[in-house]
Amino acid sequence: MLVQVILPLPLQGAFTYSVPDDVRDIVGIGSRVLVQFGRKKYYTAIVSGIDQTIPQNYDVKEIMAVLDPHPALRYPQLKFWNWIAEYYLCSVGEVMKAALPTGLKIESESVVTLNPEFDDAEGIRLTERQAEIIAALQHSGKDSLSGLEKAIGVKNIAPHVNALLASGVVRVDEKVVEKYRPKTVTKVRLLCNRDDADRLHEFFDKTSRSRQQQGVLLAYLDLSKFMMRGGDVRDVERDELLKVSGASAAVLKAVVDKGILEIYKDKINRFAAVESDCVKNVVLTPVQAKAAKEIRDSFREHSITLLHGVTGSGKTEIYCDLIDEVLSQGNQVLYLVPEISLTTQLTDRLKKVFGSRLIIYHSKFSDSERVDIWNRLLSTNEPMVVLGVRSSVFLPFARLGLVVVDEEHEASYKQYDPAPRYNARDAATVLAAMHGAKTLFGSATPSVETYWKAENGKFGLVTLAERYEGARLPEVEIVDMREMRKQKSVKGILSTPLRKATREALDSGWQAIMFQNRRGFAPVVVCHTCGWSPKCGNCDVSLVYHKGSRLLRCHYCGYTQTLPDLCPACGENTLEKYGYGTERIAEEIQEDFPDKKVSRMDLDTTRNKMAYQELIEEFATHRTDILVGTQMVSKGLDFEKVKIVGVLNADTLMNFPDFRSTERAFNMLEQVAGRAGRRREPGKVLVQTTKAEERVLQHVRNHDYASYYKEVLEERRKYAYPPFTKIINVYVRNKDAAVCDAAAVMLAVELRNVFGGRVLGPERPFVSRVNTWYIQQIMLKVESGASMKKVKALLRRIYESLAPVAQIKSSQIHYDVDPV
Ligand code: ADP
Ligand code: ZN
Ligand code: ZN
Repeated sequence: MLVQVILPLPLQGAFTYSVPDDVRDIVGIGSRVLVQFGRKKYYTAIVSGIDQTIPQNYDVKEIMAVLDPHPALRYPQLKFWNWIAEYYLCSVGEVMKAALPTGLKIESESVVTLNPEFDDAEGIRLTERQAEIIAALQHSGKDSLSGLEKAIGVKNIAPHVNALLASGVVRVDEKVVEKYRPKTVTKVRLLCNRDDADRLHEFFDKTSRSRQQQGVLLAYLDLSKFMMRGGDVRDVERDELLKVSGASAAVLKAVVDKGILEIYKDKINRFAAVESDCVKNVVLTPVQAKAAKEIRDSFREHSITLLHGVTGSGKTEIYCDLIDEVLSQGNQVLYLVPEISLTTQLTDRLKKVFGSRLIIYHSKFSDSERVDIWNRLLSTNEPMVVLGVRSSVFLPFARLGLVVVDEEHEASYKQYDPAPRYNARDAATVLAAMHGAKTLFGSATPSVETYWKAENGKFGLVTLAERYEGARLPEVEIVDMREMRKQKSVKGILSTPLRKATREALDSGWQAIMFQNRRGFAPVVVCHTCGWSPKCGNCDVSLVYHKGSRLLRCHYCGYTQTLPDLCPACGENTLEKYGYGTERIAEEIQEDFPDKKVSRMDLDTTRNKMAYQELIEEFATHRTDILVGTQMVSKGLDFEKVKIVGVLNADTLMNFPDFRSTERAFNMLEQVAGRAGRRREPGKVLVQTTKAEERVLQHVRNHDYASYYKEVLEERRKYAYPPFTKIINVYVRNKDAAVCDAAAVMLAVELRNVFGGRVLGPERPFVSRVNTWYIQQIMLKVESGASMKKVKALLRRIYESLAPVAQIKSSQIHYDVDPV
C-alpha cells in the first residue's frame, strides 16, 4: 500500500511512502506516521492520500511507524489546511506545522525529557529499548531524538519514544519547557467486582496475617464506598489511601503484589476543575433579545452576519444566548477572541454560563496542555464551546454549529510570521462553511471591509445602538495640547484638564485609566554631544531602553545589551534618554497623585499569565486607582468604576504612514473610550493631541461610526485600497543587501509584465532589516471581483520561472495575502 503524506516543511506537494502490511489496517487519511526525509532526519507526517501510483523521480521508502491507532485529524481539517495553503500562498506543510501542537509532531530535533511525575517504582512495563532511553535521560536530563540515538547507539528510536510519550513517561517539546504542570494523578483500585463476595473474602484471608495490609484494604473499602449499595465506587488516590491507612508505600506494594489492589495513573481532568453547575442563565434585555432574534433571522439568508454593537451593549450576552441554543442542538461552537481580551473576566463569566462544556485555548498554554485539548476534542462528539485565540481554528472539531468572532476588526487575528500568514477571522468563516455552520462577527468598530460587505448585502447586519441598562457612551473631550502649552497648562505628561478631571473622579471614589499608544513612544538613548544613538546590530531599528532591567533591547529580534556609561562614539558622558515609556509615565503620574495607587500594564509587566490577571484583579477590586498601560488596557475590559479615561497622546495614532492609519486610530480611540462609564455613572474621555482638528477625532467625539466609515470608504475608493482592491504583499529577504535588491527588481519586472500597473515597488519596508535579513517589498493591488485564484496561480508560475536564477534562489520569498 502506498500513501501520500504531508511533511511539516515549506515544500510544495505531497510525498509518497509505502506502508508495511502489518499496519495497513490502522493507516488512513489523517493518520500520524513517522517517516524519514532527507538523509538523517525524520518527521511526523500526516497521511493525506492513499494512491497506488508510484512516483517516477524517487525511491519510495517505507514509513517507520504509525503513531496512533486512530487518525489524529477529523474531517474537514485536511481540506481546511489545503484551503489555507492555497489562499495564503504557502505550503500545506507550513499549515500543518502551525496547526498541530508540538507534542503531536515528534521529529529528530525534538527535545525529550523525563516527565517529572514519572516514578519508576510504579511498574509501567518497559521494553528493553524504552529502559535504555530512560536511563540515558536520567543521565543527561534532556536530549534530542537524534542525540538519544547517538547516546544509545541505535537508529529509529522515535517509535519507542512515542510509546513512552503515550504512557506519560517522557515529554517531547520543541524546546525545553521550564514550567511544569502535573497531568496525571496516581490512583488505586480493587481488583474485584462489587458483587463478587467470594473474591473479597479471599482478599481478607490473604491479608489476615498483616494488620497493616488489612488496614490498607479496609481503608480502601471505606474511602471508595465500595460496600455501600447504590452510588458509584469512588476513585481513590494513592496518597489519600496511604494517609488514611497510615501505611507505608512498601505495605501498599505488598498488597498490590498480592493482586488485591492495582495502581494506575489517571489523567487529571483539567476541564473538570470548572464546576459543571451552570449557575447563570442568560436573560437578555428586550433590546438584546431583539438583536438576537434578528441574528437568527439573518442566518437564514447569510452564512456570515455582523453584530455592530456599541461598547458595553452586551454583545457577550447575545453570543451566550446563541451559543446556548447551538449546544442544546448537540453542536459545537468556536468562540474566537483576540489574545488580549482572553481575560479572567471573560472566562469566569463564560464558565458560569457553560460550566464543563467550556474549553479555553490560550496561546500561553504549554504544549502538553494543547495536546490535551486536542485529544479531548478528538475523542468527543459532545456539544462543547471552545473559547480560543487565533490558532484554535485548527482544533479537531466534530461538528461546528456556530463560529463567533468577537472584535472582528482586531489586527491580531492576522498572523504575520511565520507562514501561514492567515487571518483567523476569515479562515474561521471558511471552516464554518465546511461544517455547514454560521459565523457571527461582533464589533463596536467593525473593520471597513466587513462593514462594506454588510452594507452591500454580502453579510447580514444587526445593530445594537445602546448600552446595557441605558448607560451612556462617555463624553469625549479633545484637549488641544498646543493651546495648553501656550497657556502653560501642561506639566509633564498631563494637561490641566486631564489632571483636574482625574483628581475629581478619584477623590469621589472612582478610578481612571491612562492609555499610551505603544507606537513611537519607546524611550531611546541619544548622545547630546555627537548625536550617536544605539542601534540593533541585526535590525535597522533603535534599541529601546528598559529602566527596570537597565538594558537596551531590540523589539524586533530580542537582542539586548547594557547601556554604556560613556558614548562609544565620542567618549563623552552625555547619553540622554528620550521618549515616554509607560514606566516613566506611571512614575510621573504617581508623583502627581501621591495619595493614590498607580499600576502599570504593558508587555514588560505582564510577561507571565499570572501577572496580567493580578493587575486586572487588583484594578477590578479597586485596590489600585489608576491603571497606566498600552494597547492592553484599551480592549475588552469591563470595570465598573472607571470614570476617566485619558489618552495621553493621540498624535502617533494618527500619523502612521499607511492606508489603515485612520481606521486604526478610530478603532483604538473608540475602544479605549469604551472602558469609561460602563454602568449608570457616565464616564469621560480626555484625548490629548496637537492635532485637534483631525476629523477622526471629531468622529470619536460624536461616537459617530457612520460618518467615520463614509469618510474612510471614500479615501479607500480614491486611492484604490481595500475593500475596492485586494492586496498581496510580496516580500524578498536576503542576508546580502545587494542581492536582496536585485532579486526584488527581477521579481517586480516579471510581475509587471503580467500585472502591469497593479504592481507597486519594490521598496524598503518601514523596518528594512530584521534579524540580519534585508527586506524588500512589492505590493500587488488587484481590483475586487477579479479572480484571486487566477492571480495566485500566476504568482506561483512567475516564481517558478524565476526560481532557478541565483539571486532568487538564495532569497526567501513569501507572500502576505490581505495584509492588515
Ligand atoms: P460589550 O461586549 O458589548 O462591550 P458586555 O457584553 O461586556 O458588552 O456587557 C457590558 C456589561 O453589561 C457586562 O458587565 C455585562 O455583564 C452587563 N450586561 C450586559 N447585558 C446584560 C444582561 N442581559 N444581563 C445582565 N448583565 C448584562
Ligand atoms: Zn557622543
Ligand atoms: Zn534586532
